[in-house]
Amino acid sequence: VPIERIRNFSIIAHIDHGKSTLADKLLQVTGTVQSREMKEQFLDNMDLERERGITIKLQAARMRFAFEGQPYCLNLIDTPGHVDFSYEVSRSLAACEGALLVVDASQGVEAQTLANVYLALENNLEVIPVLNKIDLPGAEPSRVIQEIEEVIGLDCSNAIYCSAKEGIGINEILSAIVQRIPPPPNSAGRPLRALIFDSYYDAYRGVIVYFRVIDGTVKKGDRILFMASGKDYYADEVGVLSPNQLQVDELYAGEVGYISASIRSVADARVGDTITHYSRKAEESLPGYKEATPMVFCGLFPIDADQFPDLRDALDKLQLNDAALKFEPETSSAMGFGFRCGFLGLLHMEIVQERLEREYNLSLITTAPSVVYKVFCTNGEIVDCSNPSALPEQGKRKSIEEPIVKIEMLTPKDYIGSLMELSQDRRGEFKEMKFITENRASLTYEMPLAEMVGDFFDQLKSRSKGYASMEYSFIGYKESDLIKLDVLINGEGVEPLSTIVHKDKAYSVGRALTQKLKELIPRQMFKVPIQACIGTKVIASEALSAIRKDVLAKCYGGDISRKKKLLKKQAAGKKRMKAIGKVDVPQEAFMAVLKLE
Ligand code: GDP
Ligand code: MG
Repeated sequence: VPIERIRNFSIIAHIDHGKSTLADKLLQVTGTVQSREMKEQFLDNMDLERERGITIKLQAARMRFAFEGQPYCLNLIDTPGHVDFSYEVSRSLAACEGALLVVDASQGVEAQTLANVYLALENNLEVIPVLNKIDLPGAEPSRVIQEIEEVIGLDCSNAIYCSAKEGIGINEILSAIVQRIPPPPNSAGRPLRALIFDSYYDAYRGVIVYFRVIDGTVKKGDRILFMASGKDYYADEVGVLSPNQLQVDELYAGEVGYISASIRSVADARVGDTITHYSRKAEESLPGYKEATPMVFCGLFPIDADQFPDLRDALDKLQLNDAALKFEPETSSAMGFGFRCGFLGLLHMEIVQERLEREYNLSLITTAPSVVYKVFCTNGEIVDCSNPSALPEQGKRKSIEEPIVKIEMLTPKDYIGSLMELSQDRRGEFKEMKFITENRASLTYEMPLAEMVGDFFDQLKSRSKGYASMEYSFIGYKESDLIKLDVLINGEGVEPLSTIVHKDKAYSVGRALTQKLKELIPRQMFKVPIQACIGTKVIASEALSAIRKDVLAKCYGGDISRKKKLLKKQAAGKKRMKAIGKVDVPQEAFMAVLKLE
């Protein structure tokens, strides 16, 4: 296909507005995927993604579509739909000339719709508005169109009405892609520059790189150079994604494809890097390589200490496919050997944890997530501290800075008061309120990331009956009056329960935390004191009273199978416990600090 008949586009949408369903329909209608091999949500191909209905990693697919008797080649580059992965969104948009803006016609513009559409407009993409779910009785496409025009300032006179589920409007969308999105510029004669938008590790072939050729051409056997990492390789295989990999001889400027070159580490070919030829180098790499920085850290400890080597192997393997995952060994007297891991956000953390348990059969205790503090010490050193138990002592530190995020919430006006209350309670600083329509407002706050990690999103959803949405971005560090709160159980310090809190909140957090721990930790054969301290000063204390746990006595000595069942049940209940000194502490206790009233 000549370059005039190539179109590169992506789909941007708020989560649940129907992006994956639409992508599936486009693949089906263009015959890219035969219906017998059609699994629902073809592009979300990790099991977890399908189950959770979210897109985590980018994927791409090439479709053939005939328009006015001519064959066209449409490359769909998918984008992840969750805020944790927004850095991947800008990568994929940079590889496109246009985007479908999918908005649920029964809902309207949401926070992530806005964030992503602004990114697309900044990248000069042609944006095609698509009103999805028009089959729903509650759909109000004309109201939503008005909203898009008012809020985004995007002309919606030729917006497309669609039902991805019922297959309505799909051909119109395909025609609009051909007619409205410009073809890529023709620069096949220039030195090669290709933008990597995704990569993954394959056990047999090494790292497979997905990219869009911006300038020049690349073919099998070429010696290629990754400009940021400086590594060079010979291309073993070059191909397109249709959406399964299909080998071709050569890829030209404007095309999207993959390379396999026996690359050993994803770090050699990172997302955002530029591929060029070793012997005919491009002068400048393509703009915008930004490393994904982990924002949230937590400890991962095997319940069974023997699983430590397995945990290391599993993390090594996961990292091959997930350059954003960071980890280093951590030892704690309470928990034994484990790892301190860094994640993009809470969802990312949950996903990694779940994959470790599911795909690698590990039983883990996860400690409460922490952000990264900058600690200014009296000796002039500046320490990045992502683990509250490692915070330099009071006398050794001058000040602490914490990461601040800008949060934008979109909400129906009825919930404005409640969300303002929530934000203020989380040390949020009010910045702006705008009515985007008569009934909906956008609220902007600056807030410590530490206050958002945890249940902020859940609170936002429950206080707004599910109608509010949010988007956040990191804006910088700010000094704050923070102190460390420690927890003693049965007189022993439990480092993973240490937390860094604002001074004004220390007492209330201490009280709530000890009460919550008392609820969560099962009673033991002896009395167990639970205390919260600042330094050596106890600020809150509770106690678990002793019990004699003699469950078998209830069986009156009779039925042996019933006895066995009971013992089994007890054993299962124990699975997620970590023995700290003489006390068994359940997984929930390590997360208690996130769920205080
Ligand atoms: P994504 O998060 O944007 O990828 O959204 P999905 O494609 O996973 O869709 C979210 C939910 O909306 C799923 O339950 C879909 O079945 C449903 N859905 C998607 N498109 C339509 C549509 O056109 N009509 C209706 N009624 N439901 C839809
Ligand atoms: Mg999806």
